[in-house]
Amino acid sequence: MPVPSAVFRSGVQHILTRWVLPNPGSREFEKAASFHDLQDMQSGCMAYVIPPPPQPSVAVQGSDARFPVRRVFCVGRNYAAHAREMGRDPDREPPFFFTKPADAVVDSGVTVPYPPETGNLQYEIELVVAIGTGGANIPPANVYDHIWGASVGIDLTRRDLQMAARELGRPWDWGKAFDMSAPVAPLVPLQDVPSLEKGRIWLAVNGEMKQEADLADMIWPVRDHISILSRSMALCPGDLVMTGTPAGVGSVVAGDILTGAVDGLPEITTPIGTRAS
Ligand code: MN
Repeated sequence: MPVPSAVFRSGVQHILTRWVLPNPGSREFEKAASFHDLQDMQSGCMAYVIPPPPQPSVAVQGSDARFPVRRVFCVGRNYAAHAREMGRDPDREPPFFFTKPADAVVDSGVTVPYPPETGNLQYEIELVVAIGTGGANIPPANVYDHIWGASVGIDLTRRDLQMAARELGRPWDWGKAFDMSAPVAPLVPLQDVPSLEKGRIWLAVNGEMKQEADLADMIWPVRDHISILSRSMALCPGDLVMTGTPAGVGSVVAGDILTGAVDGLPEITTPIGTRAS
């Protein structure tokens, strides 16, 4: 790993602000076959000016070890009835994606404060798929070779901010990617997951059923949408994919308790707390 000697001469602070890729055109740069190799070269340098942030992670069913989260990809409008309730024609759209930050992930049981700057916080129950083996341009037939496990999660959404952004042609981030916006139940290793292709998925608010559908209702099944996603981004170990929500989304208020599951996978429980200050 090349470290310019000038960096060492100039002292620690300078090291940390200039850090450190090989010069484009250098032999080292050419040897770094991909973006991810370059990232590995960066992370080989072990000094930071502030403590590095904690590694976001998800619990694993039946294990003390946790699954480290790298990125969270989300599929938009992947169930026809939900696409219709959002005012779109499900027959005419290829799958599209948005993201949440890895540290938006919280465990089941954690109270999520009602988030700021919204009057319309909504739930979206979703099958969550965890990537254990990276890859790009993955054919649909090979997608399961890249999956570590699965769980259920809630794509919490500030619907008013999302819709305002949609109207203005702006990004969805402020509606989707806020703090604690991705509660995820404990992951189950793939060999213990009954199916990623069929099975009831549901969500209740205070015990009243609000969303109830079947994974078989997905417009783009897991094999297909992860294959398509992998054409745009090289998937990496630690990536999560939230696979879209069925119809029945709706608003919650402080004090509500969300529960949900995919049959055969652990239930999620997410209480909504008072508004974050
Ligand atoms: Mn969603």
